[in-house]
Formats: sequence, C-alpha cells, structure tokens
Amino acid sequence: KSGFISIIGRPNVGKSTFMNRVIGQKIAIMSDKAQTTRNKIQGVYTTEDAQLVFLDTPGIHKPKHKLGDFMVKVAEQSLNEVDLVMFMVNAKEGFGRGDEYIINMLQKVNQPVFLIVNKIDEVHPDELLPLIDEYRERYDFAEIVPISALEGNNVDHLVQLMTDRM
Ligand code: GDP
Ligand code: MG
Repeated sequence: KSGFISIIGRPNVGKSTFMNRVIGQKIAIMSDKAQTTRNKIQGVYTTEDAQLVFLDTPGIHKPKHKLGDFMVKVAEQSLNEVDLVMFMVNAKEGFGRGDEYIINMLQKVNQPVFLIVNKIDEVHPDELLPLIDEYRERYDFAEIVPISALEGNNVDHLVQLMTDRM
C-alpha cells in the first residue's frame, strides 16, 4: 500500500510538527513565525504494509502579496496530485476566516479530506465537540481526527486511518 498525502492548513496549526513526529526527523522547519515553510517538503513514512509520502505545504492564507499568491498556488496544486488531503486546524482557535478560504478551495477536491483537529492538549475535551461541529457543517470530511502533534496523542491512530485509505 502506498500513497501521497498533502497536509494543508493555516500557518502555525502544527503541520510541520506533525510531519516531523511521523517521519521522526527534523526535515521540515518548525517555527512560531508564520510562513516559515516556503516549499513543499516530502517525507516518507514506511512500515511493513505501507508507504505514505507526506507533502508539507506552505500555510494557506488569502494572498496579500506576490509571494503569498505563489505559496497559495503551491498548496492548491498539491491537492490535485495526492491521494488524500489532511486539513489541519487549531483546536484552541476554532473556525476562522482563513479556514473558510481553505474550505472554498477544498470544494474542487475529489479525494478524501481528513479534518485533523490539532493541539487538543490545549483544550478541554468539552470544547472539542462544538468546535468540530462548526467544521462539519461546512464540509463533508471523510474522517475527523483530534490529535496532539506535539505530544503524540492519537497520531498512530491517524496514520492507521490513512493507511486504510490507500
Ligand atoms: P505549521 O506552520 O502549521 O507548520 O506549524 P508548526 O508545526 O511550525 O507549529 C507551530 C507552533 O505550534 C510551534 O510552536 C509548535 O510547537 C506548536 N504546536 C504544534 N503542534 C502542537 C500541539 O499538538 N500542541 C501544542 N500545544 N502546540 C503545538
Ligand atoms: Mg510548517
């Protein structure tokens, strides 16, 4: 089993942190500063029964300048080249206008899209369901998976769900 997976989401939601945890190497640059990741970076996760190729993308946002415009195009393009899309959001921040922009973009995507609610270590479990509903109302996600990329909660489960789709 093998496939390509694109990780998209607003800047700083934890895309690079997730990829580094799964791949186990510091191959994507992590930072508090928005837009540190300027290129697609590939990471390959290999087990006995699966090979998952991850594409870490620049944070998607409404373009305000030429570089931003380019970065959005890179991210958009990647969605049409993969088998599965991971849309990562921040559990602490909830639905925002940046997410709305991404969800509009996802309307053109035919592949399964997983909603990954990251940073659950920072929210009370009771806050999670209303937050998830906000996203669920706006898009028909193939799976909704809460995780903590930083602490590793539920990450193995997510990798298994992705493997099952390949
Ligand atoms: P990216 O812009 O989406 O690639 O985000 P990064 O992976 O660079 O992470 C941005 C910031 O969020 C960093 O300070 C990370 O340590 C932090 N972060 C990432 N995942 C988690 C998480 O699961 N929990 C918490 N508390 N912080 C996280
Ligand atoms: Mg990044």
